[in-house]
Amino acid sequence: MDSAITPSAFADAVPEPARAWPRQLWHSVRRWWLPASSHRARPVVLDAWRWCLMTLALMALSLGWVGAQAWWSHLQTARASADSALAFIEARLAEIDEPMRRLQGADELQSAALDCSPTLTARLLHESLSSLLIQRLIVRDAAGARACGPAGALAAPDLPVEPGADLALVSQRSIATQLMAVRRIDAQHSAVALLDPRALALPTQGPWANAAGMADRISLQSADGRTLRVWGQQGPAADLVESLHVVRQSAQHRIAVSVELERDRFIADLLQQVPLALLLAVVTSLLVAAAVWRRTMLRARLVYRLERALRKRQFEPFVQPIVDLASGRCIGGEVLMRWAHPQRGILAPGDFIEVAERTGLIAGMSELVMGRAAHRLAPLAQAHPDLYFSFNVTPEQLVAPAFGQRLAEIFSPETLPRGQVLLELTERDFVDPIAKSALTGLHDIGWRIAIDDFGTGQSSLAMLESLPIDRIKIDRSFVSTIGEQTASRPVLDAIIGLAHQLGIRLIAEGVETTAQWDYLASRGVSSVQGYLIAKPMPLDTFVRWFGEQGAAVAAAGEASARAPSAPGDPLLQALWQRMRSTGGLDIHDRMHRLRSYRRCFVGREAVDWLVRHQRVSREEAVRIGRRLVALGLARHVVDEHDFEDADLFFSVADSELGPAIAPPVQALRQALRSVDAGPAFADHRRGLLLHRRCSTGRQIVDWLVQGHAVSRDEAAQWAVQLMRQGALRHVYDDRPFADGSHLYRST
Ligand code: C2E
Ligand code: CA
Ligand code: CA
Repeated sequence: MDSAITPSAFADAVPEPARAWPRQLWHSVRRWWLPASSHRARPVVLDAWRWCLMTLALMALSLGWVGAQAWWSHLQTARASADSALAFIEARLAEIDEPMRRLQGADELQSAALDCSPTLTARLLHESLSSLLIQRLIVRDAAGARACGPAGALAAPDLPVEPGADLALVSQRSIATQLMAVRRIDAQHSAVALLDPRALALPTQGPWANAAGMADRISLQSADGRTLRVWGQQGPAADLVESLHVVRQSAQHRIAVSVELERDRFIADLLQQVPLALLLAVVTSLLVAAAVWRRTMLRARLVYRLERALRKRQFEPFVQPIVDLASGRCIGGEVLMRWAHPQRGILAPGDFIEVAERTGLIAGMSELVMGRAAHRLAPLAQAHPDLYFSFNVTPEQLVAPAFGQRLAEIFSPETLPRGQVLLELTERDFVDPIAKSALTGLHDIGWRIAIDDFGTGQSSLAMLESLPIDRIKIDRSFVSTIGEQTASRPVLDAIIGLAHQLGIRLIAEGVETTAQWDYLASRGVSSVQGYLIAKPMPLDTFVRWFGEQGAAVAAAGEASARAPSAPGDPLLQALWQRMRSTGGLDIHDRMHRLRSYRRCFVGREAVDWLVRHQRVSREEAVRIGRRLVALGLARHVVDEHDFEDADLFFSVADSELGPAIAPPVQALRQALRSVDAGPAFADHRRGLLLHRRCSTGRQIVDWLVQGHAVSRDEAAQWAVQLMRQGALRHVYDDRPFADGSHLYRST
């Protein structure tokens, strides 16, 4: 089924025929616009253009922002000018009002004998005259008006007086635009103060002077809206094209101050700020655009490389086991794509799947992986008809016209029958009505469907009820909340409850700890997938892993019937080996009270593991542990403590393999070092790396088998012993010995 990939998936990469020059030119322009060789990169490049347009919009926005800011500071200036002008005028009015207020208590006024006697005048005008604010004070009553000045009585001009004014400023045009303050004294009397023109003169110092300097025109207005006085660079008659006009009413007096700012000044201010803003906007936009283009180029190149990789069929299926929670038995696996990159090694989909989906390459890639998996898993699936394998399907694949037909070609009774296939789709794929009907169609002809990453999209109860769903996969993000008090934790319980109510079986993804396992088991989740059980692995490794699992489960079945008895007991050995292998018990260095213990495991964890994976009771597990200690295969790290179901550390004994198959370590160590007797240690090139003087695991096993007449299994165990004794090591790290192509070095 390796040939299952469609030629159409990479037909775009075929070189195009020669063109006439106008088309050639257009082609060159297009090539510049679309830097990758094929139109598949178009979505990626369109993304970049979208980004650039967004940057331009951002630039326009930032310029708008600068304008708004200039206008705002303009407004603040006008407000500040108006406020301080008003404060100044109010202070002046208070000064003017003071002597006028004294009239209210004057006896002369009561007896209507106001005669402007020098005493009265002096008393009334003393302070105001000294500040030269009031030139003349005119008192009016029913009988007429008298004017008092510094020299006594004066002729009173005929003045209109606002009858109701407590204090108001009025401007009297008839006597040479004289400014007057009017105050009502009592029902019969009112006073009018003729003011010195300098009384409201613009001060040349102080805060008001500054504020006034900022405004282009400040005018004082009377209660009836008449302009009493105008200050500022522009005279009252000057033609001022205002950009802003602010009016402030006095709360105490019947006056208002109006401030105007000129448009030219606003424009000048704005122009002053624009160049810097423009520079900043251009620089930021260029930086953003450069970053976007760089990303686009990388992505476009990735598109091109993915096309090439597809042509060269570099995508491989890996499988991550799915395990039944109740029995610990493997019931299937999820097939996950890996890119076997010639230089960079095995790449996980995180590096490329998004681009593959954006460009539609995913269909070809997935079909390649599906085809390969179906082909290679066929023997296992046929031998175990209860196993199933799940495959990730994208919405684009789902709605492609011939998808059902493609599936039927890939998964057949000779490979993986459709009853052993589960198609995984994420929630967002179900929203589209076309996808929904495609899905229902597939289900009707026997394909089983799972919702992937459940809880992260927009599922609704109605959707779950209306769609043919066979499994729900709980997303890793929810599983990881087990053991933590987070907001998503109730969501996990809700999902489990919901699935139970609808009768849909659950698969929990990303199970990494025993606590998560136990929790999910206690809630009735049927199966799990995660690093606790195994990471995704190549198919042949999976087939081997599955075999070992089956053996271990069978052995455990027997183990529950009888306890291990002798050092050479194969059951005990098998269990011990299982505890040490991948997916088995965790054996590593541990810290306790600042002391580090080398290569050990915890009693309680060992019991947990035996109970879960070997299906023995807890008492049985403790008996096995005690036996291991009695046989010297494990010992308590510090003393003679017996094995217990507790947080005690036990270290792994070196003599675990028993005397019968213990290798002659010293002799082998010597032989490994000698050029003639040892395996062929030579230089190996892997990709771009050169490893000096090493040998593959397979070569070492071959050498041991030939030279020492042991079985392959025993030879591998000898090599493990050699590694443990430090005579042999993996070229990179502490990886265990394997009879394969890994490289090892003699030390
Ligand atoms: P997914 O379908 O949700 O696959 C599960 C991912 O979780 C896998 O990542 C798996 O390695 C990871 N995982 C499983 N158990 C654990 C765990 O215990 N801890 C942690 N941290 N991670 C765990 P992977 O293989 O990198 O795949 C990522 C995504 O790429 C998949 O998410 C799937 O959406 C997509 N993908 C993978 N293979 C294919 C494929 O063949 N076709 C399509 N269309 N998409 C694929
Ligand atoms: Ca999946
Ligand atoms: Ca998932």
